[in-house]
Amino acid sequence: MHMTASMTTIPDFTIVGGGINGLLTAREFINAGARTAIIDKQVIGQESSWAGGGILLPLYPWRQAEAISALVLESLRSYPHLLAALYAQTGLDPQWQPCGLLVTKNPDAARARAWCKQHQVACFPAEPKQFNNLQTEPETPLWLPDIAHVRNPRLLKSLKQDLSQKGCQFYQHQPITKISLKGNRVVSLASHEQVFPVHHVVLAGGAWTGQIFQELLPTLGHIPKITPVKGQMLLYEAQPETLAFMVLEGGHYLIPRRDGKILAGSSVEFDGFNKATSSTVLDTLNAFALNLLPTLKGYPIARQWAGLRPGTAEGIPYIGPHPEIANLSVNAGHFRNGLVMAPASARLLVDLVLGRPPCLAEEPYQFTRPH
Ligand SMILES: Cc1cc2nc3c(=O)[nH]c(=O)nc-3n(C[C@H](O)[C@H](O)[C@H](O)COP(=O)(O)OP(=O)(O)OC[C@H]3O[C@@H](n4cnc5c(N)ncnc54)[C@H](O)[C@@H]3O)c2cc1C
Repeated sequence: MHMTASMTTIPDFTIVGGGINGLLTAREFINAGARTAIIDKQVIGQESSWAGGGILLPLYPWRQAEAISALVLESLRSYPHLLAALYAQTGLDPQWQPCGLLVTKNPDAARARAWCKQHQVACFPAEPKQFNNLQTEPETPLWLPDIAHVRNPRLLKSLKQDLSQKGCQFYQHQPITKISLKGNRVVSLASHEQVFPVHHVVLAGGAWTGQIFQELLPTLGHIPKITPVKGQMLLYEAQPETLAFMVLEGGHYLIPRRDGKILAGSSVEFDGFNKATSSTVLDTLNAFALNLLPTLKGYPIARQWAGLRPGTAEGIPYIGPHPEIANLSVNAGHFRNGLVMAPASARLLVDLVLGRPPCLAEEPYQFTRPH
């Protein structure tokens, strides 16, 4: 491992992708004393991590694999401190809102309660007054008072600023189009404009990570199966007090931001790398939102957008060193839960690369897993 301050300008770690996973991985390396650079094909933090809702809990976590719960719970332990530190160090508030989550319909309520009990996540039967503004037919509704959301675009800005203050190098508008190997090592990356000699590379390219492997490292035996899954969102220009907490109903949800704006999400679409929004999804999300919260009818839709989630089997990311290339690792494939799983994912990756005792068992996230 090359971690000393040498005279060369080659960073100790070069990260491809400046979404939440690349940024937090860089922060872990920098906190460990390593010189780190992030290369992105565009401006840092504009893809899936920007587009997401920022709910710090998977939808129905009791229906997810154990490997997801492990990353989520470890991340939830560190998020409050991380967000407070970022705010203090940058003056940019990521707007952590522990406003709670109401889950209106729970056909598997016993399983939900058992999961919450096992993992010490507070969970109560919801009270009738919580439905005052809502139009729905609840089915064993559950109230999770400690669940938070974060304003992810602001979190990304704050992280970028923090890393910049700590000396991270950023290369923006530099899509990596070539990865040069010598034996079992990466010697350099290249964009159309620049060559980047490297010591160690971390691929954190979100939904593009599978494509990067297929196109730039086609001879490798181990290629992660990561495919883009489009998600669309709507933002309502509502006033504060319109909704006090997050609401999850079926496959959709509402998230009230601190300034009163309300997000309605989201779609799950397989449309390659096409990020176009559609009027069909707008109508579906709008019908969901106005039906559930009729007071929203008085407010305009301020914006509609789409992001590409890094889809993987069961939503389990690839985290760790590549089995064939000595100085290549990956932190990608977080599908629907990349924001909530990011702190633990970054920690685990850096533990594994630096040879520290891993914060979690690494097996579920390895390249050699069954799928
Ligand atoms: C609508 C929607 C709602 C969501 N809601 C939530 C939620 O509430 N909670 C939650 O936890 N998660 C949520 N997610 C999922 C979450 O957003 C993602 O899992 C997470 O953002 C993935 O982060 P990432 O850093 O891996 O990828 P990204 O944020 O996509 O970052 C990847 C980066 O790699 C760069 N890149 C790609 N290819 C190259 C290349 N060749 N060269 C250089 N750079 C490259 C990209 O430009 C990009 O900046 C949601 C996602 C969507 C779309």
